[in-house]
Amino acid sequence: MDKIVKSGVDVSVIAPVYNEVQSLPEFYRRIKQVLEELGLSWELLLVDDGSTDGSTELIRQLAREDRRVRPLIFARNFGHQLAVTAGLDHCRGCAAIIIDSDLQDPPEVMTDLIAKWREGYEIVYAVRAEREGESWFKLFTASLFYRLIYRITDVKIPLDTGDFRLLDRQVVNVLRRMRERHRFLRGMSVWVGFRQTGVQYRRAARFAGRTKYPLRKMIKFASDAITSFSYLPLQLATYLGFAAAGLSILAIPVVIILRQSGMQAFLGQATTLIAVLFLGGVQLISLGILGEYVGRLYDEAKGRPLYILREETDQSEPDPT
Ligand code: UDP
Ligand code: MG
Repeated sequence: MDKIVKSGVDVSVIAPVYNEVQSLPEFYRRIKQVLEELGLSWELLLVDDGSTDGSTELIRQLAREDRRVRPLIFARNFGHQLAVTAGLDHCRGCAAIIIDSDLQDPPEVMTDLIAKWREGYEIVYAVRAEREGESWFKLFTASLFYRLIYRITDVKIPLDTGDFRLLDRQVVNVLRRMRERHRFLRGMSVWVGFRQTGVQYRRAARFAGRTKYPLRKMIKFASDAITSFSYLPLQLATYLGFAAAGLSILAIPVVIILRQSGMQAFLGQATTLIAVLFLGGVQLISLGILGEYVGRLYDEAKGRPLYILREETDQSEPDPT
């Protein structure tokens, strides 16, 4: 228990909430049960990410009944990664646990995370050994995503690991200083270093409702992840350029020899047209990739706040940092 200091609380649980009114009461009950069995002092930060289904009112009610529940209510939907960021900014625990509020991350796994933390690890991530109740499409795209990210980025983000993890206060403080807008928290929390380890768990099916991550959001999330941690897409243009230039240089002597030997090589408009269209396509794609990076730069340059809170927890005191 040497990690736990007198001020603040032992553990802050951070849960992003976007239209989870059906799951919330059960979620709260199970979080409370697990932490009470462990005998730790705790707080639960429920970050309402612009819900429209009554989750907001339910969060307020939970906070009235139990002062350990701290609501953070967003002015609109800012997305899951920013909801978690707001939680990290406002938490007061010696450790923070990020967990989904749809009960796909079983609260009972927190016991294992905390056990590893007590062993001295500063980051304990939960690895999805099995996933229940997900479509084959989600499983396939997720698996592809984790493997692609692993290959093309410099930080070795563990495979099949989501945001469900425990972060020591030291790590939280570092993350709080990283104010990038398009964030990929699981990459950022690997990038910071410290002693890290994983525990396996079975990812459950959703308790109620449907996923809030449609394909469109998944693609945006994946491109945020890639652009935040890799220059490879930008370098692809260079590689393709060299390949095309090399090929055309090789083609010059081939054409000269064929012509001199009396053959009518590479005649006709089709050949030219195909070459022009191919290169035009490659150039447009490269421009688009460049645009992705420039757009993100522009967003960073504007320096707007990452999220806007409409209501903040009433008991907010200065953070222990
Ligand atoms: N979520 C959020 N804002 C969003 C989308 C999702 O706060 O714009 C929350 C959601 O309430 C849940 C967690 O993020 O607690 C994970 O979302 P979801 O379960 O829909 O994703 P999946 O598990 O299907 O990948
Ligand atoms: Mg989920």
